[in-house]
Amino acid sequence: MGEQPGRHTSFYELAEAQEQAGCPICRLAERRTERYLDSLLYEAVLDASVRERLTASHGFCAAHVALLRQRPGRSLGIALIYQSILARMTELIDAGELVRGSLRDRLRGRRASGATLAERLCPQEQCPACTIHREAEESYAGLLASCLNDERLYLAYAEGDGLCLPHLAMALEQVPDPKALERLVQPQLARYRAMLSDLSEYIRKCDHRFRSEPFGSEGDVWLRAMNALAGGAGMGSSAKHGSRRAQDLSAPH
Ligand SMILES: [Zn+2]
Ligand SMILES: [Zn+2]
Repeated sequence: MGEQPGRHTSFYELAEAQEQAGCPICRLAERRTERYLDSLLYEAVLDASVRERLTASHGFCAAHVALLRQRPGRSLGIALIYQSILARMTELIDAGELVRGSLRDRLRGRRASGATLAERLCPQEQCPACTIHREAEESYAGLLASCLNDERLYLAYAEGDGLCLPHLAMALEQVPDPKALERLVQPQLARYRAMLSDLSEYIRKCDHRFRSEPFGSEGDVWLRAMNALAGGAGMGSSAKHGSRRAQDLSAPH
C-alpha cells in the first residue's frame, strides 16, 4: 500500500464498511458527500462567495435536495444559497425577451418562442454534491481493487454484502492484477448464486400449491436483488443483513 495522506484512514473505513449492510462503496461515498454538504452549508452562512459559486449549478440536484430535506440543522445555509439562486432566476426571467420568430412564422400564426430564455435558465455546472460523490466512488472503488491482496480486507470483503453492480464495474476497471481480479469476482459470484437460489425458492413458495409453507430467509430476496443491482447506501443485499434500508447511516461516525 502507498503512503498517500488519508489512504490509511480510507483503508480502515473500507474494511469497517464491509461488515455493514449493503454495498460498502455506496455507504462510504454517501458518508463523504454528507460530510462535504455539512461543511459547505456551514461555510455558505459565513461566506457570500460560496453562495455565489452555487448559483452556477442552481444549488443541488433532486437526489441531494432529498438528502438535504433531512438536515434541518443546516437550513440557514440552504435558505441563503437559494435566496441567491432565486434572485438570479427572477432577474433573468424578468429581463428575458421572447424571440418573436421570422415574418414568415408570424404570418403562419406561429407563436413567439421562449427557447432563448429557456437556454439561459439551464444550470452551467453539475450539482457539486454529485461531483464529490462521483470522486468518492472512484477513489474507494480503486482503493478496494488495489488492496484486495491484503488478507484482512479480502476476508472482510468476502464475508460482507459485496458490491452493487455499478460499483463492481467501477472496481473491475481499476483492478491491478489477476489475483485481485479473482478475489473481487469470486465472492460476488457466490453472492449472486445464493440470491438466485433464494429467488427460486421465493418464486416456488408463491405458487398456490405451496402457500402453506412459511417464508424463511428468502422472504425478502426480491428487495435484496433490486438493492444488489441498483445499489444505495445501507440497502442490504445479503440474507444476513436483510433488505430494508439500514438506519445506522445516520448514526454518528
Ligand atoms: Zn454501490
Ligand atoms: Zn447531486
